[in-house]
Amino acid sequence: MRDRGGFRAQPALDTGSVVAMSDTILVLNAGSSSIKFQLFARNGSSGLDRLLKGQIEGIGVNPNLTVKSAAGEVLSENRWPGAEVGSVPLALEKVVHFLSDHLGGKLPVAVGHRVVHGGIRFSVPVIITAEIVAELEKFVPLAPLHQPNNLAPIKTILERLPEIPQVACFDTAFHRGHPELADRYAIPETLYREGVRRYGFHGLSYEYIASRLPSVAQQLADGKVIVAHLGSGASMCALNKGRSIDSTMGFTALDGLPMGTRPGQLDAGIVLYLLQKNGLSATQIERLLYNECGLKGLSGISNDVRVLLGSDDPRARLALDYFVHRIAVMTGALAAALEGIDGFIFTAGIGENAPAIREAVMKRLAWLGIEVDTQANASNSPLISTKSSRIACWVIPTDEELMIARHTLDCLAAHKTCVPELPQ
Ligand code: ADP
Repeated sequence: MRDRGGFRAQPALDTGSVVAMSDTILVLNAGSSSIKFQLFARNGSSGLDRLLKGQIEGIGVNPNLTVKSAAGEVLSENRWPGAEVGSVPLALEKVVHFLSDHLGGKLPVAVGHRVVHGGIRFSVPVIITAEIVAELEKFVPLAPLHQPNNLAPIKTILERLPEIPQVACFDTAFHRGHPELADRYAIPETLYREGVRRYGFHGLSYEYIASRLPSVAQQLADGKVIVAHLGSGASMCALNKGRSIDSTMGFTALDGLPMGTRPGQLDAGIVLYLLQKNGLSATQIERLLYNECGLKGLSGISNDVRVLLGSDDPRARLALDYFVHRIAVMTGALAAALEGIDGFIFTAGIGENAPAIREAVMKRLAWLGIEVDTQANASNSPLISTKSSRIACWVIPTDEELMIARHTLDCLAAHKTCVPELPQ
């Protein structure tokens, strides 16, 4: 161990069992203008206690850091001029400073990162090396808004604190076991071979939900379950006995359900039309599809379901009706992929907090035998279907950060390099 500017750097991976060190795991989820982070302490052989949650938002514009304890008590609030925190590396520096102070000069034993795209190669979490970073850079065109931001803090830590092991956890990984039919588009084989496939995203969320089923809804753990991750990004996943067999997102995080600012499923001809008829550039189309569509585009009011629910503008109603309609339609598709359905689970910001959306979805699915328990639903209870409902409907809060912390510990414990062979 040695000190580095007041931080104690931890031993490199090859110096023995990292897991034997009782210390903290930092989880980072970096976006274009924010870094969300959580700190976990190891507890016993496999437990993790959440110590704090924080985020630095408004990078480059109005940077501000908020950190709360696991119980929600505010531990720190800071603001800086835009120029002082103008990039993800500078924001990361502020986070590291806070953590170093908080941990009495020590640094976490490892950092786990959310990385949106793992491509064909990464179907499990992986310990990061410079070679792995170079490989992950190749997936930037597949997730142009997320991947560069996910990689920015990884590269900074690799450069500045190389002693700290880092683990990349992929949103695509949980879906890599999809059967071939769910992995394919009807396009020439050469494109499939170069990676134009249905990947699916939000895998860390679905993996966490699958891990909760045996204790929360035991009867569903071995069943056919559809999970709707409804946040600012939204998708649905078909779980059979806890394994993903299909999902609504595909090659990129644009497909499937309408989202806050993304359109969801779209005729590819629309992209050709925009290119040829409207003369938009690829960059303009990318901006349109990632930032201007979805609930925001349809309503012309907001990408936020809270705002739309509170509005009496008919365009807000249309956007929410469309959202519910597409969830119902995709449920039919995933139920067909599963050849049955025993349970339906709502999760993420909207899924966990918007009873009106859940009720509307469940009513649209009455033909499947779903019955809403309106009182339980209104109070965000875990079980929100009636006893006589043919399909059990649950609200299960997701916890992608805990999933990342678990993977980080496991990866370090096994000293895995976790780099599978390219599939044929
Ligand atoms: P992400 O992690 O992708 O940013 P979240 O899972 O946190 O997304 O979901 C954020 C979205 O959840 C918000 O944009 C908002 O639409 C919705 N949301 C959060 N709280 C509520 C609420 N109480 N009622 C309705 N919608 C909500």
